[in-house]
Amino acid sequence: MASRSSGVYRLVNITQGRRLDLFEYQGKQLFARHGIPVPSGEIVDTPEAARAAAERIGGTVVVKAQVQVGGRGKAGGIQLAKTPDEAEAHARNILGMDIKDHIVHSVWIEAASEIVKEYYASVTFDRSEKKPLVMLSAEGGMDIEEVARTNPEALATLHVDPLTGFQAHHARWLVFHAGIDEGARSGVVSILQQLYAAFTDLDSMLMEINPLIWTASGDVVALDAKVTIDNNALYRHPDLLALQTSVTDDPQERMAQEKGVTYVKLDGDVGILGNGAGLVMSTLDVVALAGGRPANFLDAGGGSKADEVVAALEVLLSDPKVKVLLINIFGGITRCDEVANGLLTALDKLNATLPIVVRLDGTNEDEGRRIISEKAPANVVVEPTMLSAAQRAVELAKGV
Ligand code: GDP
Ligand code: MN
Repeated sequence: MASRSSGVYRLVNITQGRRLDLFEYQGKQLFARHGIPVPSGEIVDTPEAARAAAERIGGTVVVKAQVQVGGRGKAGGIQLAKTPDEAEAHARNILGMDIKDHIVHSVWIEAASEIVKEYYASVTFDRSEKKPLVMLSAEGGMDIEEVARTNPEALATLHVDPLTGFQAHHARWLVFHAGIDEGARSGVVSILQQLYAAFTDLDSMLMEINPLIWTASGDVVALDAKVTIDNNALYRHPDLLALQTSVTDDPQERMAQEKGVTYVKLDGDVGILGNGAGLVMSTLDVVALAGGRPANFLDAGGGSKADEVVAALEVLLSDPKVKVLLINIFGGITRCDEVANGLLTALDKLNATLPIVVRLDGTNEDEGRRIISEKAPANVVVEPTMLSAAQRAVELAKGV
């Protein structure tokens, strides 16, 4: 039941705030702009285009699956190709591949590197210290959590005072403590400084290079790139906003992204719409308590206005698995009458025939309930409490 666990995992992410995760090739393009050496390459989405790219790049290339999940190498998503023929064949295999529930829609073709040594470098936030944390290890290429657990002294770490910033001497300290090979030291020192500058300039939450390689020609190069940007800062980076492509193959999740509503698909049949992540999570629990199975997590936001309700309902109603809708709104800043009117507008527009159970509580609740009882079609019922609404929804879903 991989879909279920990933749903729960994403739920955790959502409640922690939204982020923009970039594909490797996007991360590398940002690195290049900040002076970090990366192999040259091209992004393609057909085997034929992979061949053409390999011809242009020349020599041995690497065909790399572009999915936002690690361990692509182990999954067979990274292949060396000595000829354009081979590049085309590998691309044919890799495109469409399922790597840990992520479908490969594009591959990055890049000039192959001759690796002498694989290192690890990253910048992230340490929330408990309230500071950025720079990490460096001479044991790269593998899972860094594993290194941290089994061989913690191989991981050099440094908290950065944001006021003084990350200086050359910090980078030299890390390089020394991580035991980076002598010939690679100056290259690693400059990359760490560029990485930190990129991290702050782009309002990043994570920049990770694993592996950072030392090549046969003596260069230090970022062979992989994992970059996460703080969504709340995207207004400052219109160019990054454009990278915010849909990362999901699920039609409802895609639609929700386009409409800007927070939506996570689950595998039951009771569609859930609430305002506020906490209320939606409680609703999931109450539906489970009533013996039902939630179809989704949909948070229309704390200030749900009529068009937000319309957008949210459009997403819910397009899911064929949803048998009944449970709308659970607590009117704080959101006024219940406004939600009720939004609901009527949405129902009018969307022509929904499935049963809809509504629980409205809080500011202007009487007015909200009156509007629904008087004007809503017969498939809409109002219940006075969250529990009774959940019970009613579950009964309706079971066809009782
Ligand atoms: P990940 O498995 O998703 O982390 O993907 P990476 O981009 O980190 O690649 C995984 C591994 O593939 C690297 O650690 C390298 O050992 C290998 N690899 C990737 N690109 C090249 C390359 O150009 N040349 C060689 N020899 N190995 C490569
Ligand atoms: Mn990697």
